[in-house]
Amino acid sequence: MPQRIGLFGGTFDPPHVGHLVTAVNVRHALQLDVVVLMVANVPWQKERSREITPAEDRFALVQAAVAHVAGLEAGRTEIDHGGPSYTADTLSLLAEQYPGAELFTIVGDDAAGGFTTWDRYDEVAARSTLVVVDRPGQKAELPRQFPWQHVEVPHLDVSSTDLRERFNDGRPLDFLITEPVLEVVRQRGLYGGGR
Ligand code: ATP
Ligand code: MG
Repeated sequence: MPQRIGLFGGTFDPPHVGHLVTAVNVRHALQLDVVVLMVANVPWQKERSREITPAEDRFALVQAAVAHVAGLEAGRTEIDHGGPSYTADTLSLLAEQYPGAELFTIVGDDAAGGFTTWDRYDEVAARSTLVVVDRPGQKAELPRQFPWQHVEVPHLDVSSTDLRERFNDGRPLDFLITEPVLEVVRQRGLYGGGR
């Protein structure tokens, strides 16, 4: 039974090396047994702004990303729960699943800056230790009423948005996204199919 569990939530549309480097380094720094890359079912804060890749496809991409990486797992709690994804609910489901485990909510500072817009953010702060990593070009102020633990990770200016644009316009994807993830992209014909 894992005792120290990191919850790293995201849309992962697609997962990239910024996510992986962050997860591996936070796991090491905080001596977590596992970091779960939790795939958001319906990311309610993004829903209206663009077309999101179906959750099962994003889950398959994250599974490919973490396969053979020690201590990283793809999470489907939010997909199985259905409906919009709220971290507060996910934490209480994880607490039921792993009684007595210590939970850590891991976010990049762009996501941390919007923390008080999260549904029941106070519950998130009560149920877990908040962990923030720097994200290049995204300097955001952390809400001060909560204690945040900062973990230093290599700063990689990589985003899923940029990768989707690269799939579109043909710029190189090499070293930004891992080969097993690209394989699933090809198999499932995602992001325009081609490469
Ligand atoms: P998009 O561009 O579609 O928003 P993204 O690259 O921001 O995608 P998300 O799935 O939105 O990826 O992010 C999930 C989590 O990963 C967030 O907490 C985000 O801050 C963090 N994250 C994403 N990219 C990086 C990165 N390069 N370095 C550190 N953290 C990152
Ligand atoms: Mg994002």
